[in-house]
Amino acid sequence: MNEHILVIIKPDGMLKGHAGHVLSRFEETDLSLIGGRVVKVARELAETHYAHLKDKPFFDELIRFLMGELHNNQDLVLALVFSGPDAVKKGRAIAGATNPELAEPHSIRGSLGRVTTKGVFENVIHVSSDTLEGEREIKLWFTPDEVARDVFPVKMIDNRRVWSS
Ligand code: UDP
Ligand code: MG
Repeated sequence: MNEHILVIIKPDGMLKGHAGHVLSRFEETDLSLIGGRVVKVARELAETHYAHLKDKPFFDELIRFLMGELHNNQDLVLALVFSGPDAVKKGRAIAGATNPELAEPHSIRGSLGRVTTKGVFENVIHVSSDTLEGEREIKLWFTPDEVARDVFPVKMIDNRRVWSS
């Protein structure tokens, strides 16, 4: 059965020109790219995306990171939807461990990430960590019409297709 994940090239990855490399790594898998958009990250989107981490001491810095405030106000990120068998496992392996210093050296985070002096992990990409998170995140970052396959149920409101839950 296919799994669906959200991948984000974070501001450090965008600023340093790693988007093409990340795409190449995913193209080496059998996962299908079924959605992609350049997104300007507003505070509300960043806070909703990372809502489950709001009690963490690094939360404020993390939100600033995703909004590009640590990277020359690089507030545009590339959000991608990949779909396929074991997408979570394959995507997380390409990404590597959350902490770039502990990530496998050939992973994206291990080869291109860093830890700031304030302790924020600048780790180049986000990858959904399970299928439930993938669904929540894809629905947050994309409308149904922006995803090229029918991955989740939709409903009509005012003649517009919206996610049904
Ligand atoms: N993060 C951090 N310090 C930590 C843990 C997480 O700066 O000790 C940041 C890092 O950018 C990470 C994001 O918070 O990617 C989300 O954390 P999560 O635990 O979900 O890790 P991920 O799923 O991204 O590997
Ligand atoms: Mg996570």
